[in-house]
Amino acid sequence: MRRSRLLVGLLVALLVVGLVSSCGPGTSKPGPGGPGDSSPSQATTLPPAASPPQPEPAPPGTPAPTTAPSGQLEVHVIDVGQADAILLKTPGWYALIDGGNVADGPAVVGYLKGQGVKSLDLLVNTHPHEDHVGGLPAVLKAFPVKRVIFSGYVHTTRIYEEFLELLTRAKETSVEGPKGQVVTLPAGGELRILGPLRKDYEDLNDGSVVARLTFGQVSFLFMGDAEARAEEDLVASGAELRATILKVGHHGSDSGTTEAFLKKVQPKAAVISVGKGNDYGHPAPETLERLRAAGADVYRTDEQGTIVITTDGKGFKVNNSPWAITPPANAPPAVPTAPATSPAPAPQAPTALRVEASVSNPTPAQYSTVTVYVVVTDQAGKPIEGATVTTTAHYKSSDTAHSGVTGADGKVAIDYRISRATKGFTVRVNVVAEKSGVVGRGETAFTPR
Ligand SMILES: [Zn+2]
Repeated sequence: MRRSRLLVGLLVALLVVGLVSSCGPGTSKPGPGGPGDSSPSQATTLPPAASPPQPEPAPPGTPAPTTAPSGQLEVHVIDVGQADAILLKTPGWYALIDGGNVADGPAVVGYLKGQGVKSLDLLVNTHPHEDHVGGLPAVLKAFPVKRVIFSGYVHTTRIYEEFLELLTRAKETSVEGPKGQVVTLPAGGELRILGPLRKDYEDLNDGSVVARLTFGQVSFLFMGDAEARAEEDLVASGAELRATILKVGHHGSDSGTTEAFLKKVQPKAAVISVGKGNDYGHPAPETLERLRAAGADVYRTDEQGTIVITTDGKGFKVNNSPWAITPPANAPPAVPTAPATSPAPAPQAPTALRVEASVSNPTPAQYSTVTVYVVVTDQAGKPIEGATVTTTAHYKSSDTAHSGVTGADGKVAIDYRISRATKGFTVRVNVVAEKSGVVGRGETAFTPR
């Protein structure tokens, strides 16, 4: 423990230095890369000037940002399984919030390099848990970092100590605690640190750095793993929490994202960073339901891979369609609330679904569009209308999911705009159809040439 105390001492010294130094805009160039294998397919435009943006009550003593943003902001919620790693990117400026698990380090570094990152203007570690700090030593070794903001919470795990030790050695890096920090983006807009509001949360999750990013009329709220207690304090603080896009706290666990909190945030979209088949049952069905009730479109990395949100400060688009929330297969049948005057014929519920899937072109060129055709029928071959169909394409580096609903002929066509998918690598497409709790599966494939 002596080593830890020494590190903490060094950190405190660094904090003092960090708080008086400031850093200018970055010099790194934006990368040419698009958001991976699939191209943006969803565009959402926020209501423009017709509904004037409401003035946001700024905390006392903090002037509101006045500069209108220029260019585009991209937020990449990188698919690192049951962990967090989020890249923020505007022309000439890069920031990273968390770095995934230790094993994700090389992949996160590779992803950043693919996005043109040569140095980071800002690195945020929300809290010391491995699934947030684990990949950061690899990041610190790969890129110069101008400014680091961390929770101020200390944790004596080997990986966190390595992170702190690398920070104490990085003489060019300004290391800062969370309180009152505001980061101005050179393209306009700002990242304001709202939490943690206490230094003595029992649970490290609640001690997560909470950041709100504003870019024109579009805003993001990054929750780390903060849960209900931290949410309660944030609401009580009176800070502006409204956000167009919410990065849901703690991988969508049921212990946070409360109704009272969502009432303040009013998200239009919610992104959950979560691992497929994780041991915690994340995201919780209750949390998904609360997000649905709040009117937020849900995006999740376990089902859809890396989620990329692009905004010009007026509207935003996402590289995936919203994840379709379907009732669990074992949901009890709906009970009629009023007696019917005449007994309606019981709808013929299918007992099995047959799924046939094919593609418009088995060997599409790069940067072209492939259409996945799906036909859903029942056990007797009768077309099923209104089945929710989700297609997941397994590219070499990531998975991309889209969804649609079958028409009266039982058919739905789902477009995949492939960009620089690896030539000669066969992309398997898994198809899942669901109607009234009955699920059917199919598969097809294409090989970019
Ligand atoms: Zn976590």
